Amino acid sequence: MGRVNRAVGGGRWAIAGWRVGGLGLLVLAGIVAAVLRWGSGLPGADRLPFLGRAPAPTPPPPARPPLHGVVVAVDPGHGGEDGGVTHAGVKEKDVNLAVALLLRDRLEALGARVVMTREDDHDSLLDNRASLNLRLYKAREGEAQLLLSIHANSFPDPSQWGAQTFFHPDSPEGRRLALLVQEELVRLEPDNYREALAADYYVLRNSEMPAALVELGFLSNPDDRRKLVDPGYQARLADSLARAVQRFVAGEQVESRPTAGRQLPPGFIMEIYPPEVW
Ligand SMILES: [Zn+2]
Repeated sequence: MGRVNRAVGGGRWAIAGWRVGGLGLLVLAGIVAAVLRWGSGLPGADRLPFLGRAPAPTPPPPARPPLHGVVVAVDPGHGGEDGGVTHAGVKEKDVNLAVALLLRDRLEALGARVVMTREDDHDSLLDNRASLNLRLYKAREGEAQLLLSIHANSFPDPSQWGAQTFFHPDSPEGRRLALLVQEELVRLEPDNYREALAADYYVLRNSEMPAALVELGFLSNPDDRRKLVDPGYQARLADSLARAVQRFVAGEQVESRPTAGRQLPPGFIMEIYPPEVW
């Protein structure tokens, strides 16, 4: 309207009026463009058709957790009257249970169902062999697909240190599980030269599912002992074991690495079990 009035007053104003009007339009267009550009970056902007974006495709359903449908038996060694090995007041049964409970939480977070052979400090059976049979029974009844038995080691020479994993010589899948566990534990402690070894432990020999027995470290070694009672280190151990389970379930193969010439000391034996455990 202003332009019309000014047009009546003279051509110069009319031209000036158009110039002002054109500039105004340009400024307005610029503002609109800026607002649209800003608006298109806002959450939900892609749902507004006037912003010119195609609607986002329907997201795929969330992926199943990696251990969905997998049942894992976790066996914290010893318990109750049976403390396992003890050094400087640290009882093996307590270390085993602490790491086993952390492992249970991690496996469940990955979607697994976990069968615990014990969840507190008790062992209902006085006889060691009967106790092991009950643990194996629980794993079998729970339809576990693999079993991890968790222990800590001891040796008369306190310089011996490092985690070590065992499998039954007749179980190729137990061996694969043990090699993966050992690889993860060596990744946590790269100086650990120990390898997964075959051993005729009762729990391994009588397990109906692939099984590995892990000695998390030596309670007879002061450095190992300090780490094994540290909750942060226990959590890292549980992470390592959970990763090994994941790799096992995924079908991963791993080969034993060379010992680089380092040998176990003569007469070396693993954790000193009562004879009925063998
Ligand atoms: Zn033990």
